[in-house]
Amino acid sequence: MSPDEVLAELTALQAGDLPTHGGATMAYVYDSGLSGLEELAAAAQAAFQWTNALDPTAFPSVARLENDLVGAAARLLGGGPGTVGTLTSGGTESCLLAVLSARETWRARGRAGRPRLLLPVTAHAAFRKAAHLFDLDVVDVPVDPTSCRAVPAAVAGALDEQAALVVVSAPSYPHGVLDPVGEIAAMAASAGVPCHVDACIGGWILPFLDDVPEPFDLSVDGVTSLSVDLHKYGYAPKGVSVLLTATPELRHAHWFTTAGWPGYPVVNPTLAGTRPAGPMAAAWAVHRWLGDDGYRELARRTRAATVALTAGASAIEGLRVVGTPVATLVALAQEGPRRGRRAESRRRDDRARLDAAAPAVVRAGRRRPPGHAAPDRDRRDRGASGGVARRPHRGRMRGGGAPPAGRRPGPRRGRRDDRPHHPHRRRGGRAARGGRRRERPAARAHGAGARPGLGSPPTGGRAAAGRRAGPGLPAYPVTPCSRAQAATAAATASATRRSSGLGTM
Ligand SMILES: *Cc1c(COP(=O)(O)O)cnc(C)c1O
Repeated sequence: MSPDEVLAELTALQAGDLPTHGGATMAYVYDSGLSGLEELAAAAQAAFQWTNALDPTAFPSVARLENDLVGAAARLLGGGPGTVGTLTSGGTESCLLAVLSARETWRARGRAGRPRLLLPVTAHAAFRKAAHLFDLDVVDVPVDPTSCRAVPAAVAGALDEQAALVVVSAPSYPHGVLDPVGEIAAMAASAGVPCHVDACIGGWILPFLDDVPEPFDLSVDGVTSLSVDLHKYGYAPKGVSVLLTATPELRHAHWFTTAGWPGYPVVNPTLAGTRPAGPMAAAWAVHRWLGDDGYRELARRTRAATVALTAGASAIEGLRVVGTPVATLVALAQEGPRRGRRAESRRRDDRARLDAAAPAVVRAGRRRPPGHAAPDRDRRDRGASGGVARRPHRGRMRGGGAPPAGRRPGPRRGRRDDRPHHPHRRRGGRAARGGRRRERPAARAHGAGARPGLGSPPTGGRAAAGRRAGPGLPAYPVTPCSRAQAATAAATASATRRSSGLGTM
């Protein structure tokens, strides 16, 4: 089979996909419409596709990419002298790490009980995922029924000893409105609680607009971290986002470090081990090519389309624009008499207590052709299981089409929102396979003397791994990383990796 034939097969696989160019897809893809951008991104991605961003000492180019993009984000989004950041694989990972950092910071204060995440009901589901993964309780913060902005008074009431992090959105994904960032961040700060701004979708648009109603970024007192996706309005291909933290300590708090295995000292700033450098390089190239002027022009055009769409929609009888859209998302609500049971249950599920059912989210400039069903938002969750028929749209109505048919969105009945169901999780985890592995002190020091990240130490590593594989032999002793070991690993890594300090360590 020739490479061309293989590629033809791939192209054929895409026949049923939504178009990623042409402005007809209203979610998932962010098409700049600029000729040349795709080719540039593809070439940059190809040049870095075999590079492993796990180790910037082996690939110093990666440290440069990361520093440049983190620096650009910090400059754009009100970063101060202490601001540092990290490139992640996407918005979800940026949000996860912000929560992890806050939890670690909370724990380090020696507080008793369980940490809590103060979450407006309109905050992205990635934060519920974070609470699930990192074991925080979610405190639902209501939003105003008309403006759909988080209610500061409700945050005030929940800022207690258990509060580990407050989240606000700039803007929120469901309604495209800006939470009262200044008010909430100030309250959080006076209670000593960190505040994260989720600007995943707005962070590379709002800085280029001149009609943003109020400050929302790291320049606002009390804001301690901010997430912004380059694979949205940074117009980079999928797989790259930025998490900024106001201090290096907050970034350090989401690192994982260990020297407690025979391979190499591990210093992972993100959830991944091996990290693809391709998306970073593509984002870097697109950013370098567009520059502030390019982004400003794209933001201006997209915002103008949003404003036109908002005006048009609000002139239609029976439609209402929800709140004040500040960026490029518009939510429409249907006015009129309350509808039947489905509307009721959806409203209950929404928990935002909107007075009208099923607000529609419309991203400006990306119109879905009439009759083109929106994809099932859960499809990705079912992954490549194959053979799963597309269900009718279960999410919010997009593009002003007919109200969704089929099942309502949201968690299964009887399940708590922040405890999602895992369809693929196998029964019986580690416990079923014989319980948690006994953790014993390491038989010898390993890794500490190795160059960080540069593979196994010359002796010990492979031999030890072999022992572990042998039948009847004890598993290689594994210790959780002690604070001292972690500090040593981090210090070694810092010394080796030191570049500008912005993006990497
Ligand atoms: C897209 C988005 C996320 C999650 O980002 P992914 O890149 O899809 O993981 C989080 N928050 C907001 C506001 C978003 O728009």
